[in-house]
Amino acid sequence: MSITSYDFQTVENVKNWIGGQWVDAASGAQLEVLNPRHGKVMTHVALSAKEDVEAAVQAAKAAFPAWKATPMKERAQILYRAKAIMERDLKELAWLISHENGKTYEESIASVAKGIECTEFGCSVPNIPTGGISFVSRGVTCETHHEALGVCAGVVPFNFPFMVPLWMLPQALVAGNTFVLKPSEQVPIGVSRLATIFKEAGLPDGVFNVVNGTKEVVESLCDHPEIKAMAFVGSTRVAKLVYTRGAQTGRRMLCLGGAKNHLIVVPDAEVEMASTDIVRSFTGCAGQRCMAASAMVAVGKVDHIINAVVEKARNLKLGYDMGAIITEASLKRITGYIELAEKAGAKVLLDGRGATVKDAETGYWLAPTILEVTPDMPAYTDEIFGPVLSIVRVKTLDEALALENAHEYGNGGSIYTSSGSTARYAASRINAGMIGINIGVPVPREPYTFGGWEHSKFGHGDITGIDGYYFWTRPRKITTKWALQPDATWMS
Ligand code: NAD
Repeated sequence: MSITSYDFQTVENVKNWIGGQWVDAASGAQLEVLNPRHGKVMTHVALSAKEDVEAAVQAAKAAFPAWKATPMKERAQILYRAKAIMERDLKELAWLISHENGKTYEESIASVAKGIECTEFGCSVPNIPTGGISFVSRGVTCETHHEALGVCAGVVPFNFPFMVPLWMLPQALVAGNTFVLKPSEQVPIGVSRLATIFKEAGLPDGVFNVVNGTKEVVESLCDHPEIKAMAFVGSTRVAKLVYTRGAQTGRRMLCLGGAKNHLIVVPDAEVEMASTDIVRSFTGCAGQRCMAASAMVAVGKVDHIINAVVEKARNLKLGYDMGAIITEASLKRITGYIELAEKAGAKVLLDGRGATVKDAETGYWLAPTILEVTPDMPAYTDEIFGPVLSIVRVKTLDEALALENAHEYGNGGSIYTSSGSTARYAASRINAGMIGINIGVPVPREPYTFGGWEHSKFGHGDITGIDGYYFWTRPRKITTKWALQPDATWMS
């Protein structure tokens, strides 16, 4: 593949990766995969069913005993090699992702780099004393070991085809589990490239398996009795369904959902930094990020900052500073929210509708859009998942916090201010799992863990960092006494 431009190119059809083999869905069914920048079919992907999930689970089950018996430090060496291959192929991976997802090339580079960071965390697990041992009574010790669960599964969304799978895989694999992953049917190419990377790195066949498809694959994973733990990342509507269905077998589930991240801006915020960050946050990945700023709460007199945000957003070059919307249906959904808000009396401060990009006239495009709304409007209450910033005005910081805290979601939230005490006051009151102080996209970097609150996450713990390792393992507690203590019973 040439890694030179955004020009349209087709790639070979995407199959399932089961037991170290590329296989079609048993039924032979396929789906079209569109390049969002051009709105044209770039490949086809296997549309799998229950029987394909069964084959992948059996391959993963067969591979589990030997993988679990492999020392962790050797499992980690495979991750080190995978990381080196990702670095070697960074440009090609970014090219692929920009083509299947519609992100800009620079955003794709950043997303692969973040996937590499997540892999580095997996590499480092053998160097972390994850268990513990102590004397709990005379001559008696208690110790904890974290053990692999068996066959695990993950389901991922369209917006980070390479990075989100790497929120799950490094910790799950280094812990000794085997895995079945279902990529988004809209962007299946990055994950199939990941399979080739793991293969080249020396991962034994069957340890990592990919089953492509849609709802039927997810439901079969949820229902499969051999799957011991399952993680999901996607919309809140589906996260709730998957969490409920998957937990019925008694397995552990961790399901990350949607978001409506609030950026609270107070009058003493530094104009240049705040406006630059806010624009980057709501337009990055065309607003299709669970950590995108989608609601700005303007406290008091901050018109100078709003004006700077509008001007900076107006000057972005569509197609180069900001990428495409994933599908035509998404584009319609997003513009529907803008139309609804406009009809309900929202001010359209910047209108991105109707924008096109030279050389990509048939793709799915929307330039940055800024609305001034009221809290009852769907443009404020719902996750739009596009490059739309909904601004709500309030008089005080407490009003801003009350608004934020009444919202359904609790993924991220930020405050823009020059005052340490205002920052501290807000940061300890915003009802979200990930808080930014003068940061537009407050994603914690490794080793800090990623995960929201409220309807942005169902299940316990976060998905990245050490929480991921604990999610994909179970603690075994061993209590030991080597000689009868003459002076006491062991409980004394
Ligand atoms: P989605 O929920 O539509 O799809 C996610 C996955 O679920 C896909 O693999 C899809 O095939 C599958 N799926 C879709 N409908 C299903 C159904 N009815 N039953 C079972 N499985 C189903 O999400 P998306 O559009 O791919 O991604 C965007 C969403 O993901 C946004 O809401 C975004 O906020 C969220 N997201 C959240 C995080 C986070 O960390 N909280 C990260 C990335 C994306």
